[in-house]
Amino acid sequence: MKSAVWYPFTQMSEPEGHPFLRIVRGRGNYLYDDRGRKYFDGVSSLWCNVHGHGVPLITAAIRRQATRLAHSTLLGLTHPWAEELARRLTRAAPRGLTRVFYSDDGATSAEVAVKMAYQYWRHHGEPGRTKFLSFRLGYHGDTLGAVSVGGVYLFHSTFRPLLFRSLKVDPPYCYRCPLKLSFPSCRYRCLEPIEAALSRNRHRLSAFVLEPKVLGAGGMIVQPPGYLSRLARLCRRYGVPIVADEVATGFGRTGRMFACEHENVRPDFMCLAKGLTGGTVPLAATLTTNRVYRAFLGRYEEAKTFFHGHTYTGNPIGCAAALANLDHFRRRRVLSSLPRKIRLLAGELAALRALRHVGDIRQAGFMVGIELVRNATTREAYDWTEGAGRRVCRNLLQHGILLRPLGNVVVLMPPLSSTPLELERLVRATGRSIQETLGD
Ligand SMILES: *Cc1c(COP(=O)(O)O)cnc(C)c1O
Repeated sequence: MKSAVWYPFTQMSEPEGHPFLRIVRGRGNYLYDDRGRKYFDGVSSLWCNVHGHGVPLITAAIRRQATRLAHSTLLGLTHPWAEELARRLTRAAPRGLTRVFYSDDGATSAEVAVKMAYQYWRHHGEPGRTKFLSFRLGYHGDTLGAVSVGGVYLFHSTFRPLLFRSLKVDPPYCYRCPLKLSFPSCRYRCLEPIEAALSRNRHRLSAFVLEPKVLGAGGMIVQPPGYLSRLARLCRRYGVPIVADEVATGFGRTGRMFACEHENVRPDFMCLAKGLTGGTVPLAATLTTNRVYRAFLGRYEEAKTFFHGHTYTGNPIGCAAALANLDHFRRRRVLSSLPRKIRLLAGELAALRALRHVGDIRQAGFMVGIELVRNATTREAYDWTEGAGRRVCRNLLQHGILLRPLGNVVVLMPPLSSTPLELERLVRATGRSIQETLGD
């Protein structure tokens, strides 16, 4: 059967353009195809599934909400689920984030943060603050504003003429440190050029848009301990607000509810999406402070309104699913179940370091990137056109594991509900596939 679907991020002229796996069912940490074969969902259905598929509490909430009220707008009306979820999110979030603006997915939550930060400064009497600082290799989604503050060259360079310019700084990619230093003896030297950029542009910057703790789509680049808090301190010193894009890191991924918590960082904006509904239906939120919120208040004629919104903004089914997701976290004590599993994962991963084509292994909780290299001694990289990561992941299907790589980086992003045995199997099978595919 020929498909009329044009698949995302997919070269349609290649065999992968016509996916041969057709997923028809999900249960627990597994997906099933139309031939009844079972696969471990090793990247949580592109990083959004949190507790496995078909979680009774969340499924029941969705069903109940669909019956009661599937959708009603937040433009001029409200509903209790949007209000209740906002209350719960502000309670769960880092202190100071007291206002919640809903949208539909990660890109729109970043888009909202960018527009809000910019407009905030206009109301604040500093309309010259039109620039954004962001990381090379940062990723905030595929709409044009989000791409403008993104830095994944392969995805973004085509669209350059359509983008607003943002100032880019290097992330702490320690394995390939641009300064050729190593942590911790480097003493965070890579923060110096960032401080210089903040200082030079302090009156031109709307915000620093960043992924806290882990740059996900850029290759699972994990910031060394202490980096984020130092970076946040610099932003404070120069009066530049922080947009923490927690779309990938939020909801337990790094071992805490939000990545900012690891270093007591209190951002001015926080973007949430992927895990917000436990990976069931689309919903996103941008949280911000009262200070930002208040700057938008005024008489209607002053045009201080935030003129932004989407048809399905704050969809009730999404809100009900997100509330059930938070309930599930609490009732099952999900966060306290994590440290043991994270240690086990680290222990298993350590064994892969001996492999000839494993260059670097980066882990932050349940986010793992295994960087494949041609030669681990010289750190010589595979050319991205060789598809090393893709070949390893194709091989893993035979072991009943579904993964999706980022270029030469094999990503492991299992559901938080994975059992110790499943984590062990996942890592061991990945190691075997790397050897089978690339040689040992
Ligand atoms: C995936 C991701 C996005 C984009 O989310 P979408 O729902 O795909 O639009 C934004 N930021 C980060 C950090 C992400 O990982």
